[in-house]
Amino acid sequence: MTLGRILIVRLTALGDVLLATPLARALRRAQPAAEIDWLVAPPFTPLLEANPNLSRVFPAERGVAARLRARRYDLVLDLQNKPRTALLRASLGAARVVSLRKRTFSGAIASLLGRERPATEPHAVELYLSLAARLGVASAGTRLDLVIPERARLEAAPLLSRRGAASLWGLAPSTRWATKRWPIERFLELGQAAEERGAKLLLLGGAADGPTLDALSARLGSALLGDTRALGTGGLAAAIEACDLVVANDSGPAHIAAALGRKLVVLFGPTAPSRWAPIGSDVELLYRGLPCSPCSNHGSARCPLGTHACLAEIPASEVLAAASRRWAS
Ligand code: SF4
Repeated sequence: MTLGRILIVRLTALGDVLLATPLARALRRAQPAAEIDWLVAPPFTPLLEANPNLSRVFPAERGVAARLRARRYDLVLDLQNKPRTALLRASLGAARVVSLRKRTFSGAIASLLGRERPATEPHAVELYLSLAARLGVASAGTRLDLVIPERARLEAAPLLSRRGAASLWGLAPSTRWATKRWPIERFLELGQAAEERGAKLLLLGGAADGPTLDALSARLGSALLGDTRALGTGGLAAAIEACDLVVANDSGPAHIAAALGRKLVVLFGPTAPSRWAPIGSDVELLYRGLPCSPCSNHGSARCPLGTHACLAEIPASEVLAAASRRWAS
């Protein structure tokens, strides 16, 4: 099978975009001469634009369908498989379309009845690679690819300029869903312990994480350099690259840190690590594995049991010990 043009469609979310990069590498190895493009939501283009396995990255914005149609793709891979991407892929006139199968038949029935259990396997990277397998393309490994564009480093440089020679700890205390957040008081304890050890601190998150970042910023001392909310995803990645150690919830910054080979401690509670664990060379995962976990695929606004024990039971001392182990490794 020789393919001239391939389009990968994975619009969101930050972690998923990175977890799909091994698929692009597998395709590149199998089809070295092909043009391999990716359609992605505009905020995430900096994560892909320097990826050596891709030919072009198209931001999903007004008018993009016509530009994609003109490319006359031999193959479109829809990794999102939502109504929006189904409509788009149908309009492209590609010779072949392969879509992600998110559920088995019984899973689809359970979902319709509202009784679907959260997915625990396969890991998301393997799920995306399963599309390659359906095409007869072998995996080229599960390592994530993330190359930071130079302009993103320039974007992050002012924030990092006060760092000096101290070690830099990145704390990612927020996520979209409340149940995935380790309590902010614990992040505060951890940050204060890092300060006592002479480290500088950087809070990692985006504009939507403002309330959590503000609450923590107000109570940390002069060791805090600031936070990344004003940066794009490329600038966020450049800031994470500068960190010696990252402590994060199950979130986009955790996946960036893992992809960049940073020392990472990541906390899991309501979601399944077997599905979503960051893929990296220096990752320590803290997870209680309570009988009620996982209780959701991506987290939720409230703990169904009202306890949030999966994360509330993890003390700051345990995370500090894990961070110290990573530091010494
Ligand atoms: S304590 Fe259990 S039910 Fe509550 S959010 Fe955590 S995993 Fe879900």
